[in-house]
Amino acid sequence: MTKTRKAMSTSNELYEISPIPVLKDNIIWVWVSGQEAVVIDPSLTEPVKQWLQDRNLNLIAVLQTHHHSDHIGGTEGLTKTWPKAKVIAAKSDRERIPFQTISVSDGDKISLMESKLTVIDVAAHTKNHIAFYLPTERRAQNQPALFCGDTLFGGGCGRLFEGSPEDMYRALNRLASLPSETRIYCAHEYTEDNLKWASALFPNNNQIKNRLHKVSKLRQQGKLSLPSTLSEEKSTNLFLLAKTSQELGKLRKHKDSW
Ligand SMILES: [Zn+2]
Repeated sequence: MTKTRKAMSTSNELYEISPIPVLKDNIIWVWVSGQEAVVIDPSLTEPVKQWLQDRNLNLIAVLQTHHHSDHIGGTEGLTKTWPKAKVIAAKSDRERIPFQTISVSDGDKISLMESKLTVIDVAAHTKNHIAFYLPTERRAQNQPALFCGDTLFGGGCGRLFEGSPEDMYRALNRLASLPSETRIYCAHEYTEDNLKWASALFPNNNQIKNRLHKVSKLRQQGKLSLPSTLSEEKSTNLFLLAKTSQELGKLRKHKDSW
């Protein structure tokens, strides 16, 4: 059983981001400020509805990173309970996410609660995949946050269903240019598996080995390994360390059949 872990908070933080682990390894993130909430990639309706109602929260928006059913499956159910909630998704994916109410593209800024999100085009896992970046507000102490769906994982990256290694290389490079303290909120708990693979490939890499040790311990205690930080990923994630798209492509192929 995976227990939910509340994000660290202090009174100076504008918001909290909490996980709802569902299915085998999906994580639905809930970004909460006051009595308002924004949900990212809800695969299911019921666990999210319950979580929000238990805390008397009002759902104001759903962010969709891409169209896969384990990311959008719960959205329509949630908007039945909270009909005013906006559904924010890629304009280029209108056909596959037809219930979207705010259609966005690369570089768009969205004001939600007291923050401003930036949309980053990271097409690779799917051809219209987007990520949402939440910078640190000047008046708050929150670390910047990235909701990256199935693009960047703890120690790994998403499979290339619709994009090429070049696309993923470009997408990861864009994410790598964000501040290194950015917290990485991925949509799946794959970190331990990814690091086991990386460690088998590079058994002498101590940074990877140490991170694997830390993550395995957390998982044994029923805790999540996420969010990670961008600096952690930059030092131990082989896909972010790849120097060329060819190198990334080879790693992806190797991991796919590992
Ligand atoms: Zn996916």
